Amino acid sequence: MSNLSASADFELTGSLPSSPILLNPRKVEIGTRTGIAIERTLPHREFRTIGAWCFVDHFGPTDQIKAMSVAAHPHTGLQTVTWLFQGLVEHRDSVGSVQQISPGELNLMTAGKGISHSELSTNQSDYLHGVQLWIVLPDEFRNIDGNFAHYENLPVVENSDYQLHLFIGSFGAVAAPVKVYSNLIGAEINIKSANKFELALDPKFEHGFLVISDFTVIDGSKVSSGSMIYFPAGKKSIEIQGSPESKIILLGGEPFEEPFIMWWNFIGRTHDEIVEMRTDWESRNKRFGSFEDQIGGSISAPPMPNLRLVPRR
Ligand code: MN
Repeated sequence: MSNLSASADFELTGSLPSSPILLNPRKVEIGTRTGIAIERTLPHREFRTIGAWCFVDHFGPTDQIKAMSVAAHPHTGLQTVTWLFQGLVEHRDSVGSVQQISPGELNLMTAGKGISHSELSTNQSDYLHGVQLWIVLPDEFRNIDGNFAHYENLPVVENSDYQLHLFIGSFGAVAAPVKVYSNLIGAEINIKSANKFELALDPKFEHGFLVISDFTVIDGSKVSSGSMIYFPAGKKSIEIQGSPESKIILLGGEPFEEPFIMWWNFIGRTHDEIVEMRTDWESRNKRFGSFEDQIGGSISAPPMPNLRLVPRR
């Protein structure tokens, strides 16, 4: 996924929220084709991270299954997580990966000091529906070499109330064998009945519940499909009620304390660093490597804004 709204988070404040916040999504456009609806809930005007989760895009469901065609573009300082509910997407990148992803599998790309990739949905299913999420890398890891990993057979926890498919972190006695650089959880929860149930949480984590389909009542608040509700750290469990059609993405983590700059597809710590990243991409410097794909071409960075970017927490 490529972030085309490069100026979106300039007005964010640095204060930490202390009570639940309902985050309604905003519609954004990506890529070189129309037809795919993208709803973004992070970064948000109120704040921009949940743990180290710093970007949340929900796309589809759409029957325009070839709607995603995002040409080569760069990333720095973050990991991208692709998780599908329906459809098939081919990922290619500058470290040589060619990987198709199906629902229930995880694509995790670690940008580190620099990587480039493209994403192309294919016509081998009836619908396309999924999320793309970014994780900001802590300072001590943000300049590591780029790499890519694909995971299948991730842990599933199931009882009479829900099925939880864990793709990052741990839940109860199970852990996803997925390399991240801060304490996080990421999971898809499919509710199985209309019963209320309690879900255990790590009280050190702040959490966001993104409702993917149907509505869900979370800790007494009704959350509609497409919206996310945020809870600050400190909760040991939460009450959830939905329907057998309810699907949620749970994201959580220890509050990320480091100030950083997120501009376009880059995460850095200083204005000058971002300028250098942009210059390196625009000159197609070897920092971001190269690769071949069926899409062809690449996405240019927008111009720098007429102000100095300031790192924010
Ligand atoms: Mn991307």
